[in-house]
Amino acid sequence: HVTVLGSVNMDLVTTAHRLPEPGETVLGTGFHTGPGGKGANQATAAARAGANVTFLGAVGDDAFAPELRAALDAAGVDTDLVRETAGPSGIAAITVDAGGENSIVVVSGANATVYTLTEPELDRIAETDVLLMQLELPLSTVTDAAAHARRSDTLVILNPSPVQPLPDSLLDAVDVLIVNETEARQLIATARVPYVVTTLGAAGAHLLGPDLDMTAPAPPVDVVDTTGAGDAFAGTFAACWYRGPEVALRRAVAAGALAATRPGAAAAPSAAEVDAILARH
Ligand code: ADP
Repeated sequence: HVTVLGSVNMDLVTTAHRLPEPGETVLGTGFHTGPGGKGANQATAAARAGANVTFLGAVGDDAFAPELRAALDAAGVDTDLVRETAGPSGIAAITVDAGGENSIVVVSGANATVYTLTEPELDRIAETDVLLMQLELPLSTVTDAAAHARRSDTLVILNPSPVQPLPDSLLDAVDVLIVNETEARQLIATARVPYVVTTLGAAGAHLLGPDLDMTAPAPPVDVVDTTGAGDAFAGTFAACWYRGPEVALRRAVAAGALAATRPGAAAAPSAAEVDAILARH
């Protein structure tokens, strides 16, 4: 059982020939909305990878809230403990130009209201096997949850994104850190964490553990859009941890590569799709 404590956003995606300059208006070429947020994306990926998944976080009381909840429900994620708070849900206003360059404004909304964890939330963190978190909720909440998980023998996986300095009190309670190369360079204090996974884009990922030092290459794929590849990786890794770090790494790399072949942030593959690509390579 995997519990994800994290963000859930509605992505508002506008496409235009070019990004507007400050003060300028341009006519767009398309618009769509879709569920996002690293927490929700990783919860969805873990569920597709076959885990039983609980999502902990918050939506607002706006029109996006039921849609965001329904998207998690449809992925088979347990949303019973998801909070509904007054005010807007988290959103990401994304503009993409014809060359794929983007500009993004994230408004945390309900995500920023997740401070003191409730008794049912703490109980769920204590009962679950793996707690998976990112840094799109208040850092103090992530730190408190990690400490509680540590006390309860729940494995803590942290994907420290968006990257920021991590307090020792957080690192002390983390078992596995999943970072990309940029994050790895910015976090030099990672040595104290038992397992460090560094994702390497097209080169796959590296896992350094107490008695493990391995690289899993990514299978060759036709890349369409790498958005969401990192979230597919993290969710799959958490879901497969119980099969051992090496299996988790291989399956996560394959899931990340498959996600890169699909547009959008919610691109995680099923366990069967991961089986199929691993059988071919
Ligand atoms: P992030 O997207 O978080 O910056 P990476 O770029 O390292 O992280 O990608 C995460 C994972 O997604 C990689 O470990 C790999 O499994 C997969 N991936 C990303 N880009 C590619 C690619 N071009 N080809 C194959 N797999 C990829």
